[in-house]
Amino acid sequence: PFFLLDYGALTEFPPREEPFGVGPHPHRGFETVTIAYKGKVEHHDSRGGGGIIGEGDVQWMTAGSGVLHKEYHEKEFARKGGVFHMAQLWVNLPARHKMEAPRYQPITRAEMAQVPLPDGRSQARVITGELFGAKGPGRTWTPITTAVIELAAGGLVRFELPRDWNTAVLVVEGDAELNGSAAPAHHLAVLANDGEVVEAGSTEGATLLVLSGEPLNEPIVAYGPFLMNTEEEIHQAFADVRAGKFGVLED
Ligand code: MN
Repeated sequence: PFFLLDYGALTEFPPREEPFGVGPHPHRGFETVTIAYKGKVEHHDSRGGGGIIGEGDVQWMTAGSGVLHKEYHEKEFARKGGVFHMAQLWVNLPARHKMEAPRYQPITRAEMAQVPLPDGRSQARVITGELFGAKGPGRTWTPITTAVIELAAGGLVRFELPRDWNTAVLVVEGDAELNGSAAPAHHLAVLANDGEVVEAGSTEGATLLVLSGEPLNEPIVAYGPFLMNTEEEIHQAFADVRAGKFGVLED
């Protein structure tokens, strides 16, 4: 169900007075999931929604039938400048849920299921689905497990995910090993669908983002900010934006 991962590796931003980010744009047919590691991001949309997420927080937005939104470095963070480290994941919706009403789930770091891991030193935070016997607070439209694993130096953990789900592991910080293969910092490891067990370890310590979901197995027609099943639905999305059906959002 994962269509795109936009990864912003750790970057130092200079102080600036003018807003910095992406101005008003539409989305339809999927979810944008913003995961903050360092820095703060601010969001506003055409349905009156908005919010700020900071270190360790997640914003899980269902664009569904359509929103216009804008995404900026939070004002005070932009003014002071600083280290920014962020990922945005696009989660596809199945045909039966593409036109759901838009929905927002701010999931703070503290709200995630915190799990101390059996190696006695590492820990996990479950965002959605279930991992290490803990259930995350986030709601998804199809079965999806997402979690952050903080491996301590010398940490080694084992977890299981369904063989037929598609699974990837983003190495956010530090160098790791996954099932005996090197998974260096800032790399995305895409796992083969040939087993249930994932073994993750790290000599120096590492932070991993685990993404796993049941495949949708539907045709995908993607164009810019729209993710639909057919080309007609893409044309319809453009027509609906022009007709004002996504609402109005000032820059
Ligand atoms: Mn967007």
